[in-house]
Amino acid sequence: RVKEDGRNSYRFFTPEMQAHTSRALALGNALKQALPRGELHLVYQPQVSLLDGRVVGAEALLRWNHPQWGVVSPAEFIPLAEANGLIVPIGEWVLHTALRQLRAWLDGGLPMMTMAVNLSAVQFGQAGLTDMVSQLLRQTGVPPEALELELTEAVAMKTPEVAAQKMQELSQRGIRLSIDDFGTGYSSLSYLKRFNINQLKIDQSFVRDIGTDTDDQAIATAIVQMAHSLGMTTIAEGVETAEQLDFLRARGCDQVQGYHYSRPLLPEHFEAFVRANLQARKQKPTPSAQAN
Ligand code: C2E
Ligand code: MG
Ligand code: MG
Ligand code: MG
Repeated sequence: RVKEDGRNSYRFFTPEMQAHTSRALALGNALKQALPRGELHLVYQPQVSLLDGRVVGAEALLRWNHPQWGVVSPAEFIPLAEANGLIVPIGEWVLHTALRQLRAWLDGGLPMMTMAVNLSAVQFGQAGLTDMVSQLLRQTGVPPEALELELTEAVAMKTPEVAAQKMQELSQRGIRLSIDDFGTGYSSLSYLKRFNINQLKIDQSFVRDIGTDTDDQAIATAIVQMAHSLGMTTIAEGVETAEQLDFLRARGCDQVQGYHYSRPLLPEHFEAFVRANLQARKQKPTPSAQAN
């Protein structure tokens, strides 16, 4: 409602915009205390191989449970953390926590798998990133090949020369690199051959209607073919149905991740999911023993 006091005749902010801004300010402020107060935790989404149905990886996803606001989406608070620089300590905490978790799972007898961690542009731009990551790998005893850093196209394209050098540093140490939300960013494909990228993540916007939309089918198929020709693998995000799964498998997509298999899980639930997956595969005849 416009206040009728004359001074407010020029209103550039609607009440919704104001609410949004004050919420953003309040969230950004509260975020400063989130780490010390233990309000952050990670959930882990299984990444499943389309070759044999094995859980071959986990993606660590950040959650903020605020005492007043409840669960705040990372889509809302990550941009705020990027704007006020908090993404640097938070991102380091995410890396450390995810690597410690993988170490604990391996020590508990789970088979080797990759841990995918999202890296924001601000983090990627930090001097000393490679050393920080290497230090955490040494500290937790996780082999570098088991860590997969997820970058977006925007990160890769921002300062291509710097990015190329950083990616080379990371991949020379054995760390895997994956391009998140592939196909949605504004980028040139030429970076794919210059950068040491291991995997493309087909964005969920192409997966959603893949059962019916022939454009999405063409795009997903092209991404898989291009990735394979360039020596990269592919994983599809946001796979929710058997129909989507079947299409992606038929086109040679390597892995999937999505609600069809599992939502992101708390550590103990992730572990139970992997154990159940192993058990189910033991009970099934192996593909070679199967009569076709
Ligand atoms: P993302 O890395 O592309 O992660 C995929 C998002 O899709 C996650 O949302 C996940 O929960 C969701 N998702 C997974 N399967 C399905 C599905 O079958 N259907 C649908 N509709 N959604 C699915 P989430 O956890 O809310 O994260 C949103 C974004 O926030 C992430 O997108 C990532 O860009 C960012 N983010 C999350 N954790 C971190 C972090 O630790 N660091 C950084 N820098 N960014 C993070
Ligand atoms: Mg993976
Ligand atoms: Mg991701
Ligand atoms: Mg994504």
